[in-house]
Amino acid sequence: MTEDSLWAQFFRRKYVGEGHLSLVNPDKGTWFWKAVFKCIPMVLEHSKWLIKDGNVSFRYDKWVDNGPVCYDFPVLAYPKLKVLDCKIENEWDIELLYRLVGASKVEELCSFLASRRAGKDVLVWTKSMDGSFSSKCTWDCARVRELESRWLEWIWHKFIPTKASIIMWKALHECVSVDDRIRRVGIPMVSRCDCCQEGAYEDLNHVLYAGEFAKDIW
Ligand SMILES: [Zn+2]
Repeated sequence: MTEDSLWAQFFRRKYVGEGHLSLVNPDKGTWFWKAVFKCIPMVLEHSKWLIKDGNVSFRYDKWVDNGPVCYDFPVLAYPKLKVLDCKIENEWDIELLYRLVGASKVEELCSFLASRRAGKDVLVWTKSMDGSFSSKCTWDCARVRELESRWLEWIWHKFIPTKASIIMWKALHECVSVDDRIRRVGIPMVSRCDCCQEGAYEDLNHVLYAGEFAKDIW
């Protein structure tokens, strides 16, 4: 949203185009982009422009307190208008602002704009203390937090090899690929466990607890 790297340019050109990020059709694009795009409303919600020069969309960028101007004034002319376009020489074009937001808001908007200094606009990530964006902080906004449990501390203990931790985590979430699990996702197969002589039906309980091999270990 703010960088000018080749990566950012590529994504902007390919997926956003001339319009605004908030208007992009979420159903278009690759599987990867659609997955990325699911996070965009959340990213927009938690970011805000501190405008100086006003090189941001008048209508769609969040630069006033209650969100983008289009929330309060859904029918607006000039969809591509930028805040800086409302200036004539060094003065704010009050007549234009009046047409855009109406008599009740124009005064408030003018005094807000008058308080802005010159410089580069800054996009602030409202979820962090210093306003800078980090993927860690964003992940904390997007993730669904499980209740803390002592079991999890034990599973992810630093003395347990990561591979073992992952197997335990998978067992807890029933996603170890035992025959029983594979059959339950709709793949028909004959099950025969490898861990014991009789070649029993392979399910999670058998492999980790009730089977011959598991019992010996327990
Ligand atoms: Zn077995």
